[in-house]
Order: sequence, then C-alpha cells, then structure tokens
Amino acid sequence: MRFDICTLFPDMFTSYLSDSILKRARDKGLLEVHFHNIRDYSKDKHKKVDDTPYGGGAGMLMTPQPLYDCITSVKKLNSGPVIFMTPQGQKLTHTRTKRLARSNDSLILLCGRYEGIDERIRDLLVDKELSIGDYVLTGGELAAMVVVDAVSRFIPGVLGDENSAKEDSFSRRLSGKKEYPHYTKPAVFKGLEVPEVLRSGNHAKIEEWRKKHLR
Ligand code: SAM
Repeated sequence: MRFDICTLFPDMFTSYLSDSILKRARDKGLLEVHFHNIRDYSKDKHKKVDDTPYGGGAGMLMTPQPLYDCITSVKKLNSGPVIFMTPQGQKLTHTRTKRLARSNDSLILLCGRYEGIDERIRDLLVDKELSIGDYVLTGGELAAMVVVDAVSRFIPGVLGDENSAKEDSFSRRLSGKKEYPHYTKPAVFKGLEVPEVLRSGNHAKIEEWRKKHLR
C-alpha cells in the first residue's frame, strides 16, 4: 500500500517509520511512504505558506497556492483519495481503519498546521476528512502517522502473525469487546500467578477463559 503525505514537516515522520514493524513492512515493499514538503511548492519569493485570515481572528492559515500545487502534483503519482487530517473530520475507528486498508491501494494524507487550511482546498481537492480524536494537536503530522500505523496492520504480510489483527481489541472475533488479559513468563511474578488454565494446554478451556475475561 502506498501513502503520500503532504506536510510542512516531513522529518517528523522519519524516526517512527525507521523502526520495528513499519520498517520491516517498508523493507519488504509492503508499505511505501512518500513525503511532499508543501513549502517546496510555494511561489512566494520567501517560500511563505501562511497568511492572516479574512475577517480577522486568531492565528494564521495555510494559503491555497502551495497546497493546491503540492496536492495536484501528488495526485499524478497517487490515484487514491485525498484525506485531510482535521479535528472536524470523521473519527478514526477500528472499522474505518480496516475499510481504508481494504478499499484502497493508496492514500494521500494532508497535514494541516497553524489554524488550518484555506477552505477552497477542501472544496477543490479534499475527498475525506479524518480526526484521530476530540482534542486539538499542533499539526496533522501525528494524526497522519496514526493513520499510516493503524491502516498498515491490515496490509497482508505486515504483521508477523496474521491472526494478531483478528485477535486485537475491537476485532469482530472478540464481538466488539476489547481484549482478554495476557500473560508471559515467568509463571509467578511478585507472588502473582498466571491462571492455571492458561498453562493447561487445553485450547477449548483457554478459549472459554479468554471469552469470559474480555474487558
Ligand atoms: N483551528 C483548528 C480547529 O480548532 O479545529 C485547529 C488547527 S490545529 C492547531 C492544526 C492542524 O492540526 C489541523 O489543521 C489538523 O491538520 C491537525 N489536527 C489537530 N488536531 C487534530 C485531530 N484531532 N485529528 C486530526 N488532525 C488534527
């Protein structure tokens, strides 16, 4: 799956994508992430990308020209929907994340900064708006990274064990509930013992115990 991320701060993503599961997914060619610095598209001689809002109000807004040129240029490389990360968007949920992975080979993620973007970019180029929760971040980069991470778990081959995603919190197999308690070695830690049934090797009983302890 391919992601193209339009941002003023591409370096913010580097470290997260260069370790662990997402790094392996990129190395295996299962996940491609490309960055496009919106500032590079500014036609202003000082590469300015923000200005004051018409009608007044706090803060600055991202101006339409660099955004328009950046996104239209990325659309030539990526035919997926343009998703603007915004607190006003639809809430990112397990189901939406899964749907994004299943119905798209590629996505374009747009990260806002300042007080947001000029409305005409929404009108002209944005297909979908997503929020990662009811709080306000300083920029869309963290939100876009959350989308890349959560969607990637549904790309076949990304997780070492395909069953991991099926047994996750919110998966249908767990009937919408969260998770059962997990234990690993040692069998006794600080006087607390792993339930005996989990050490019994009796898979039917283990399944029954796990269902009973979903929370
Ligand atoms: N004035 C905006 C408002 O109240 O909705 C907040 C702008 S915020 C400081 C700058 C950018 O961060 C937004 O344009 C958006 O791209 C991103 N952002 C902030 N919170 C977010 C959230 N909960 N989900 C997704 N993106 C978010």
